Amino acid sequence: MKSNSKFAAKFFLFVLLIFIISCAKHEEKKSEFGLVIHGGAGSVVKGQFTTEQEKEYETKLHEALEVGYKILNDGGSSLDAVEKVITILENSPLFNAGKGAVFTANGINELDASIMDGKTLNAGAAARLTHVKNPITLVRKIMELSPHVMMVGDGAEIFAEQNGIELVDTSYFFTEKRWNDLLEIKAKENEKAAGLFFENPDYKFGTVGCAALDKNGNLAAGTSTGGMTNKKFGRVGDSPIIGAGTYANNNTCAVSGTGHGEYFIRGTVAHDISALMEYGGKSLNDAADEVINKKLSALGGTGGIIAIDKNGNVAMPFNTGGMFRGYVLDDGKFVVRMYKE
Ligand code: ASP
Repeated sequence: MKSNSKFAAKFFLFVLLIFIISCAKHEEKKSEFGLVIHGGAGSVVKGQFTTEQEKEYETKLHEALEVGYKILNDGGSSLDAVEKVITILENSPLFNAGKGAVFTANGINELDASIMDGKTLNAGAAARLTHVKNPITLVRKIMELSPHVMMVGDGAEIFAEQNGIELVDTSYFFTEKRWNDLLEIKAKENEKAAGLFFENPDYKFGTVGCAALDKNGNLAAGTSTGGMTNKKFGRVGDSPIIGAGTYANNNTCAVSGTGHGEYFIRGTVAHDISALMEYGGKSLNDAADEVINKKLSALGGTGGIIAIDKNGNVAMPFNTGGMFRGYVLDDGKFVVRMYKE
């Protein structure tokens, strides 16, 4: 009798323990899967866009999120979601990536991109592309089919051709809006005989990026850009630099950045957020806030990041006027924003 009640007490304690552990685990997990995107940070302020333009941006961001959500909801990989989502944004003239890339000082378009797999820590990156329609597809191929992480210029395009990546004539990247942006900056530069890019570091960005968590707990991030208008001397920004503009690690989070690239490189922004989580025990929100609102700001840099962690928490801090951004988690609620809340 005595041993029966002892057994019952032990059994009860065991069940209670399992219950407590499963509750704790449940509390930790915000979402089984999800993705977060950006379409650039900069002087995105109310009154700058017409209602029609706002709608255009919102619709495109929504479309990209829907495609990513479907892939993840159907059990697809975070890498597939990141690649497909960024392809949609690259094919839109609205953003400074792919079709809508900005012009260099020489009046051409030089595209940069990178992707990282949080499961393996494999990565692919490319810079100074002039014919690749979708740089994000190329960098995924660099990651998966080559022993290298980064390729630039002609060499990267030879690799692209050999691996069936779509190449286009340089005229594909011409958009009147970006051309006028270049003329405007050049006029200002002539007036002031000013520095490398432009006077106001909060001018116009528009890079695109995506970070995703899939149902298998794998994180991935990618970034694609035309860089900065009027860039000179073969300048390359942070977007194709692993650890600066892009980073993903299944132990922590996946991050994509946008902003004045020189500061993101110097601040190793994307990796720093992961490192603060991994070595400093910080939450995604605290880590991202510290790196963007303290470290990057103290350096004098402007921009923002989007990130998702291994538990489905999302962060989207920026220190500019605004940032095109959005996310969706496993509840299927789509959130798209442009301005400061
Ligand atoms: N970070 C990009 C660069 O510096 C620009 C951007 O995000 O818009 O090349």
